[in-house]
Amino acid sequence: MEFIDLQAQYRAYRPEIDAAIRSVLEASRYINGPQVIDLEKRLAEFVGSAHGIGFSSGTDSLLAVLMAWDIGPGDEVITTPFTFIATAEAIALLGAKPVFVDIEPDTLTLDPALIEAAITPHTKAILPVSLFGHCADFDAINAIAERHGLPCLEDACQSLGSSYHGRRSGALSTASAVSFFPSKPLGCYGDGGMVFTSDDALMERLRVLREHGQTMRYHHAVLGINGRLDTLQAAILLAKLPHFEAELATRQQQADHYCAGLRACDMIRLPTMRSECVSVFSQFTIRISQRDAVQRRLAEEGVPTAIHYPIALHQQPVFSAMLHHQEQDFPVAAQAAREVLSLPMHAFLTRDQQDHVIEAVIKAVRSA
Ligand SMILES: *Cc1c(COP(=O)(O)O)cnc(C)c1O
Repeated sequence: MEFIDLQAQYRAYRPEIDAAIRSVLEASRYINGPQVIDLEKRLAEFVGSAHGIGFSSGTDSLLAVLMAWDIGPGDEVITTPFTFIATAEAIALLGAKPVFVDIEPDTLTLDPALIEAAITPHTKAILPVSLFGHCADFDAINAIAERHGLPCLEDACQSLGSSYHGRRSGALSTASAVSFFPSKPLGCYGDGGMVFTSDDALMERLRVLREHGQTMRYHHAVLGINGRLDTLQAAILLAKLPHFEAELATRQQQADHYCAGLRACDMIRLPTMRSECVSVFSQFTIRISQRDAVQRRLAEEGVPTAIHYPIALHQQPVFSAMLHHQEQDFPVAAQAAREVLSLPMHAFLTRDQQDHVIEAVIKAVRSA
């Protein structure tokens, strides 16, 4: 059993993917080929945003939006300490300060009730993460952002395909950043990402920043990056896209099946979402005490698991040294880091495999 079975997916879509790759090789337009523009249009339509701007990764997508907002030394950006490093890394790389705000104990997303106390005259943006596919509480967060005149960037690297109040993740705030890292719900065969926004001026700045700040060939108006999405990756994503809706439906059924089976054991805390959110379940993450012992037992039973994430960002050496945080500064995040365990989750996981996982998890939890 694989934690995420990329080979099973490739076997299922192989003719389309191979043909897409071959057509790029034959045309040899590896940079800014027509597939990039096509993908930007289709995905913008999918999420319900005016513009999609392809980037070389989710991290570069986050970075470019913050650059477009002129965020730099002396500025602060409010974000969650319970996420992948890239969220806060993008802020710190620009010389700005990531200001952590603790998460909600049930959904593990940024707690809107704690945001306003963290806003200072230096605050330049809010960066919530739709973690594991569960959207952050954007109604509450957008209201705070508006009240303070701040833009809001959704880290949607785990939530393409999720929705909130019937709107897709990616179109819930001023801008969003999506990742096509292979293990994400819509993954390419390397690194890739995209920004979505309905702000025309932001879209134009992002296109300039993505190509070394050039407005015309070899005319560089601002400092930019090499941040383009490869044509080859765009073509692979276009080949996978027609299957994405069906995969979303499968993932929902799989999440329901996990919940139904694991509910039998009251020592397991199931993923919780706000009722207005439909999750893509980029991770199916349970919470248990004795997590490390349970993970070891599952490995012995041939059940691969992962920990997203074992260390909250305020406790990561890079940030604890920079920001002088203590573990108890963000107690909800610190506790989540001790309890979370992600189970195998991908659209090609079979019922039998899921039943094996459910049985093994319950057994491991009861005996740990
Ligand atoms: C994967 C991920 C990123 C980074 O995406 P890359 O494409 O790997 O750069 C950023 N934030 C979150 C929450 C992620 O899960």
